[in-house]
Amino acid sequence: MKTIGVLGGMSWESSLEWYRLANERVHAALGGHHSARIILDSLDFAEIEELQARDEWDAAGALLADHARGLERAGADLIVLCTNTMHLVADTIQAAIGIPFLHIADTTAAAVLEAGVRRVGLLGTAFTMEKPFYRERLEQQGIDVLVPDAEDRAGVHAVIYDELVHGVIRPESRACYREVIERLVARGAEGIILGCTEIELLVSSDDAPVPVFPTTALHVDAALAAAGLAGGSRSRQQPDT
Ligand code: GLU
Repeated sequence: MKTIGVLGGMSWESSLEWYRLANERVHAALGGHHSARIILDSLDFAEIEELQARDEWDAAGALLADHARGLERAGADLIVLCTNTMHLVADTIQAAIGIPFLHIADTTAAAVLEAGVRRVGLLGTAFTMEKPFYRERLEQQGIDVLVPDAEDRAGVHAVIYDELVHGVIRPESRACYREVIERLVARGAEGIILGCTEIELLVSSDDAPVPVFPTTALHVDAALAAAGLAGGSRSRQQPDT
């Protein structure tokens, strides 16, 4: 199997999930003492969060590109970035390296299309829900994207930054997300993208009347397939219905 270079720490709570799922799935597929070949570069999220808040995306792109180059030098065969939001600078990262970069919106879109879903509700940070980089990437693949209204977007964003990135899981916040999801479904969403890598720590298919697409789990599956893990990949089987 190839070696996956992981840009993590954004937040470490979700990178932990990425790492756990990857190793569990390799073990499930290959058995024995097998585990995933990973080089993890875990950034200090405070540095990233400050750049986001100051709208300094060029600096964030340069920083992540530098770390991606480091992973390539260290022997990674492909790169994944374990955050939806920071894919805003995906082009800068891709341009800096000579190995494949597995875009999380593409791995998500593939699962959405495979499930026969054409209109999705998108949950994520305000950056992901409001800036065009993520929505347009899905739309280019023929997927209609609905985002929550302004009040709901603020609530979804606050739960991510005030709770989930700190490992805080509150039933009240899950109830709030369920309501946001219901409103998206009432507007025509046939599926819900959990478009922030921490959301699936809070919400699962039990919280939605339509299929949900957990971006962390789907990203892991796609990365393992790209790394050469034959079979055993959940995305080849079912979306998270
Ligand atoms: N992990 C999150 C995401 O998938 C948010 C944290 C960040 O801003 O990177 O968007």
